[in-house]
Amino acid sequence: MNILFYSAQPYDIKYFTTANEKYQYQLRFLEYPLNTDNTALVKPGENVVCAFVNDHLDAPVLHQLYDKGIRLIALRAAGFNNVDLKTAAALNMPVVRVPAYSPHAVAEHAVALLLGLNRKIYKAYNRIRDNNFTLNGLEGFDLYGKTVGVIGTGNIGAIFCRIMMGFGCKVLAYDMYKNEALENAGVEYVPLDTVFERSDIISLHCPLTPETKHLINAITIAKMKRGVFLLNTSRGGLIDTKAVVEALKNCHIGALAIDVYEQEENLFFHDLSGEIIQDDVWSRLITFPNVVITSHQGFFTHEALTQIAETTLHNIACFEKGEALVNQVKI
Ligand code: NAD
Repeated sequence: MNILFYSAQPYDIKYFTTANEKYQYQLRFLEYPLNTDNTALVKPGENVVCAFVNDHLDAPVLHQLYDKGIRLIALRAAGFNNVDLKTAAALNMPVVRVPAYSPHAVAEHAVALLLGLNRKIYKAYNRIRDNNFTLNGLEGFDLYGKTVGVIGTGNIGAIFCRIMMGFGCKVLAYDMYKNEALENAGVEYVPLDTVFERSDIISLHCPLTPETKHLINAITIAKMKRGVFLLNTSRGGLIDTKAVVEALKNCHIGALAIDVYEQEENLFFHDLSGEIIQDDVWSRLITFPNVVITSHQGFFTHEALTQIAETTLHNIACFEKGEALVNQVKI
């Protein structure tokens, strides 16, 4: 198989080259994102495109890739909201993904954001370097005894629930499908509005779909407790960022920690130091002292990167051999 990688970073090259020792496929890595401008970069003989979360796989891109000889889309990610699945199906071009790679990586990162922001570790780190050993402004709160609302209790959300219960939190959850083992462990499934109304901390772990787009908006924020702590490690589009900025300004939201941002494709994974950012919503967001942002690094652990590379190449091998594509994304 001849595989063309878009949006490739040095760590992609490292982990995929290692995983490929078993397969000996032809791999070509491009730094460029996948969009209509860059489909022309496919070379004759290349038959698989490997894409990441901010690559665009809309109808024009899929048609162009097909015309260039691409017959399989291998996502090196779990989410597939960036793919026009109907067009892919019409072209008979399967889309495979990595449904579960160390869900611990993302759940633990959500906890890191929660702890880091609550206990102001980012401020303390800088203060100590400045020989400032005062504590003013570093006050946090005990997680013990707090109510945590979890929206989406799939692979990642379930692990996050268990970690929060380990801290002695009361965990409320909303998902269309209840996880019985979680319920038995003490998680209480409640209607979505109850999650909004009763939670001190809300963490998003559901996928971005037409139903969940802007799940967090002015109306749902108004239902939340004043001072609520909001966490998003799932997808930026779950949050109406302008509404969140307003709620941060009037202190209805007490703290925000995000690993994803709706317009992240123009920012994340690029070194833009020295450049003028044109996104005014972003620029306002980063002025708040009670906001911590990481650039989509929840997945970024050794274990997850290893699994992503191995599963992606395994998916491609199944396609090559005509075997069942267990990780195919179906409409
Ligand atoms: P998953 O499919 O195992 O779980 C998703 C859960 O959300 C399911 O239980 C599903 O029933 C539920 N759900 C779907 N629609 C819902 C709705 N409207 N309201 C409430 N729940 C709903 O997925 P996962 O592996 O746990 O991943 C969750 C999300 O995390 C992914 O969709 C992806 O967007 C994101 N993610 C982020 C990173 C990162 O690096 N930050 C890495 C991997 C995944």
